Amino acid sequence: MLRRFFSYYKPYKGLFILDFCCAIFAALLELIFPVAVNRVIDDLLPSGNWKWILYACIGLLGIYVVSSFLHYVVTYWGHKLGINIETDMRKKLFDRVQKQSFRFFDNNKTGHLVSRMTNDLMDIGEIAHHGPEDLFIAVMTLAGALGIMLGINWQLAVMTFVIVPLMIYLSLYFSGKMSAAFKRMFSDIADYNARVENNVSGIRVVQAFSNEEHEIERFAENNNRFRVTKLIAYRIMAWNSSISFILMKFISLFVLVCGTWFVIEGRMTNGEFIAFVMLSNVFLGPIKQINAVIEMYPKGIAGFKRYLELLESEPDVADMPGAKPVGHVRGDIAFHGVTFGYENKDRVLEDVHLSIRAGETVALVGPSGAGKTTLCSLLPRFYDTEAGRITIDGIDIRDMTLQSLRSHIGIVQQDVFLFDGSIRENIAYGRLDADDSDIMKAVGRAQLEELVASLPDGLDTLIGERGVKLSGGQKQRLSIARMFLKNPPILILDEATSALDAETEAAIQQALAELSEGRTTLVIAHRLATIKNADRIVVVADKGIAEQGAHEDLLAAHGIYSRLHRAQFGA
Ligand code: ADP
Ligand code: MG
Repeated sequence: MLRRFFSYYKPYKGLFILDFCCAIFAALLELIFPVAVNRVIDDLLPSGNWKWILYACIGLLGIYVVSSFLHYVVTYWGHKLGINIETDMRKKLFDRVQKQSFRFFDNNKTGHLVSRMTNDLMDIGEIAHHGPEDLFIAVMTLAGALGIMLGINWQLAVMTFVIVPLMIYLSLYFSGKMSAAFKRMFSDIADYNARVENNVSGIRVVQAFSNEEHEIERFAENNNRFRVTKLIAYRIMAWNSSISFILMKFISLFVLVCGTWFVIEGRMTNGEFIAFVMLSNVFLGPIKQINAVIEMYPKGIAGFKRYLELLESEPDVADMPGAKPVGHVRGDIAFHGVTFGYENKDRVLEDVHLSIRAGETVALVGPSGAGKTTLCSLLPRFYDTEAGRITIDGIDIRDMTLQSLRSHIGIVQQDVFLFDGSIRENIAYGRLDADDSDIMKAVGRAQLEELVASLPDGLDTLIGERGVKLSGGQKQRLSIARMFLKNPPILILDEATSALDAETEAAIQQALAELSEGRTTLVIAHRLATIKNADRIVVVADKGIAEQGAHEDLLAAHGIYSRLHRAQFGA
């Protein structure tokens, strides 16, 4: 897994090397000061030559100017490295999620996905920068300090360094515990995001049922669970930091006691003693740094694991090998022995055969839950069939690229989804390169002219999240305009007017009739009055097609259709 992680550094090799070299230099320059103090006290001070001390200080100043520049490079360019890696990861993840299948979104919560694409990656960016760099600097500084200390007095150096492995061992111990705690924390954050997302997008329902208190309680539960896991993580962190603290102070005191003893015994000069104390403080820094990395590591790794999980989930609907883009279709559709079921459920459709000629309008009717929507969603391959195949103009839809297949099919549904933005943007979603005259033409054909003219901002009017600022009929017209712009040869109208009042429905039926002209059209309709003009009526029931034919013939057959008809219009 570490190898996968480091593969993200590849495009930034230069940046990484630059950052690394500067960091190493900056770290080594830190070690110069104690050595300089040693020389000043032992050599320059006894000579009484003030000038030399001044020169030494000017020399040091020069070194520090260089060092401060190195610090700038490390902080800015190092973080740039981390940010670039984070950005790449986020892009990859977003790309992958865009291509996921309907099934994937059936089974994943929006809030969880949002959480993974935002929070999880933030920590990864931090660790991408600090992880390897800090670790390496810390090791270099420790080694440098040890070398100099060994040079000054090897016995004291060895005695001091015995404690380092102990500290690192303790850190590792705590890091293991923390890794588990952070993993739990991430999953709690995701739950909590999912709850908030669900609540806010459903707030109108919450308030309509006056269930605010109930929601507040449910949220409090999530919130508290998050609090508890976070507390556990921080308790482990606190233990780690307090134990490290006492160990570090122990080293300082140990050096102080032994050092003074060595000086009194005459085995060390004053300058050497002071340098030693300073160096033992310099090497505490790297240990802290190693600690910090070890603390950060589990968090980053937990996030990276979740990232990989999501990145590696292959979409179950994708272009088949050898799939070709199909430029133009007439719109002959055929279902050959199609069988389909959702997960863990009985099959919805079994061995369905249905042929539709190009330009024909076929109405799908049947009891609710019979599988009409499901049948239609197999055509653009929102789901793949379990058995059997579907063809358009005789070409298996799996031999077409998804993009070309879907470009030939337009779907108008009952619940229109509009994006937060302007009317223009939402209509242009049908064809992204459409210009204003195309858009206005579509507006006209969808009978939206009056609305657009009445708005002070016209096409640029913002319609709010999911189009909350529009009425149901206006939203539906907008989605019809979008379809005029897309201009697909195959059209699916899935209960497009079921949510509207009778008057609006009648008006929109007109626009829909115009839209379906010259296209192969599948109309799913609950209200039978709206489908009398269809060329053929197909009754979907009992996992397949129960009856089909013209309205009069079906009535005469006294089957399901005539029963449905009687229920709606009376005998
Ligand atoms: P219709 O459009 O005829 O009312 P649907 O095609 O929407 O019926 O649904 C057919 C059956 O499939 C129903 O039993 C429904 O519960 C089930 N179903 C629909 N969508 C899904 C889904 N995304 N995941 C699982 N089951 C589903
Ligand atoms: Mg349906």
